[in-house]
Amino acid sequence: MENTDILICGAGIAGPALAHWLRRHGFRPTVVERAPGPRPGGQAVDLRGAGRTVIERMGLMERARALCVAPVQVPQGHPASDPLHRERPLEDHTRR
Ligand SMILES: Cc1cc2nc3c(=O)[nH]c(=O)nc-3n(C[C@H](O)[C@H](O)[C@H](O)COP(=O)(O)OP(=O)(O)OC[C@H]3O[C@@H](n4cnc5c(N)ncnc54)[C@H](O)[C@@H]3O)c2cc1C
Repeated sequence: MENTDILICGAGIAGPALAHWLRRHGFRPTVVERAPGPRPGGQAVDLRGAGRTVIERMGLMERARALCVAPVQVPQGHPASDPLHRERPLEDHTRR
């Protein structure tokens, strides 16, 4: 194979994962991202089903486990359980 350079547009979950596998198979991927940095906000990144199989095959399960956060159940009546309040940043709830 002559040209092994591959350009991947997007550094979400898919881009770096693809780069990982391409490198393992002898390619030279470059990942580019148009966003200036990681997106703030959102919730936990779920790791289930096929995602678990893939991350195991990547040899990253132990590292993912070390970084994982246990889900917290918000009791009924707590301000954070109100869907309207959930739109606010976490600090707002802790100040009340
Ligand atoms: C509203 C919403 C809520 C979600 N909540 C959750 C959640 O709580 N937990 C969870 O696990 N999943 C959640 N998901 C799903 C999760 O976001 C997606 O499954 C995941 O982000 C898909 O990864 P991806 O790499 O395919 O795409 P993306 O994460 O969309 O990554 C694509 C990247 O490519 C970049 N890009 C695009 N065009 C170019 C270009 N021309 N040049 C350079 N860079 C480019 C973008 O900036 C982006 O960073 C949610 C999705 C949505 C829409």
